[in-house]
Amino acid sequence: MQGTFRVAVLPGDGIGPEVTAEGVKVLKAVEEVLGPMFRFQTGLIGGAAIDATAVPLPAETISVCHNSHAILLGAVGGPQWDTQRPELRPEQGLLQLRQRQELYVNLRPAKVLDALVHLSALKPDRVRGTDLVIVRELLGGIYFGNPRGIFAKNGERMGINTEIYREHEVERVAHRAFQLARTRRRKVTSVDKANILESSRLWREVVTRIARLYPDVELQHLYVDSCAMQLIDRPTSFDVVLTNNLFGDILSDEAAMLTGSIGLLPSASLGERTALYEPVHGSAPDIAGRNRANPVAAIASAALMLRYSCRLENAAEAIETAIAKVLKRGVRTPDMMGKKRAVSTSRLGDLIAAETKKLLKSRKSR
Ligand code: NAD
Repeated sequence: MQGTFRVAVLPGDGIGPEVTAEGVKVLKAVEEVLGPMFRFQTGLIGGAAIDATAVPLPAETISVCHNSHAILLGAVGGPQWDTQRPELRPEQGLLQLRQRQELYVNLRPAKVLDALVHLSALKPDRVRGTDLVIVRELLGGIYFGNPRGIFAKNGERMGINTEIYREHEVERVAHRAFQLARTRRRKVTSVDKANILESSRLWREVVTRIARLYPDVELQHLYVDSCAMQLIDRPTSFDVVLTNNLFGDILSDEAAMLTGSIGLLPSASLGERTALYEPVHGSAPDIAGRNRANPVAAIASAALMLRYSCRLENAAEAIETAIAKVLKRGVRTPDMMGKKRAVSTSRLGDLIAAETKKLLKSRKSR
């Protein structure tokens, strides 16, 4: 990475500001060892933006994001905005941002850390060693296809949604999946419903064609129902799971349950423009403002930013190792509690920042 890297920080609502602060804290710790490299600029989004400007994604935030190399987001939403008109809900801010930045692929790693294996919904023996990434197409499919709506015909109402995939939409997300697999264990599982759906038949055809450009990567096709079963039955057999918008939405939440707490899971949304990094969890209004949220997902999202946007693999890996080491010492926020005493959001952030610095310093002096 050369020059200053501009980061748009959008804390959002609920626990968003608390956990995002810990992500920024750890990035500053990286700078302390590797030298100044970031310029952080904060913007409003979601409910916080509605309160201040009456819209969930103000023009000023759009401009901050356009002028940044990456976006770090907390979370949006909360009960106080649930009565707003649909187009003025906090979630609209995030949807608009994803569309504006043309973020067509969402990466959700789900890794089971040895120290937290007992938190999983599955038995430790089954889940130990799980390390997979769901690659979800984010801008196409049934969430966006037309016609859509609720219509009346012959005195009865009907709801319609349409699944559409164009070849180029499948190609670009497939390339991302194969490229990612090359940095991992070189296996892609493409998930569809090609036995029933034409859009899935085209999906499978295109993925098979793209796979020929990556002969060093193994390709497996699975129907979505079979994949849902196998994620529970043998989660360690997956590496990169490539799928469409709807199936990805569901399978990534299933994969999240393998790891234990939702407070651990980061995500990256990538396209041709500024990428967006955010925890998988929401704004958790039930624990907001109490310094008890788990900051790991936000810190791990910052690590993904270093990996995919800054190309600083060494620093990304240092943060991930620091997270694993601190958790291995038994340090926990309340959501991960066993018998041990819980620490606060900021304390866990302090410990991970200190461990990251220690790791980077020791590597530098080698
Ligand atoms: P949620 O993820 O906010 O919370 C679900 C449960 O998990 C809650 O019990 C919460 O306390 C807990 N939790 C979540 N993150 C945690 C963390 N880091 N540490 C400890 N515990 C954590 O989901 P929800 O309750 O369905 O939604 C709350 C609000 O967030 C809603 O307004 C929803 O629309 C919004 N939401 C936003 C996003 C986003 O911004 N990307 C995603 C999902 C939900």
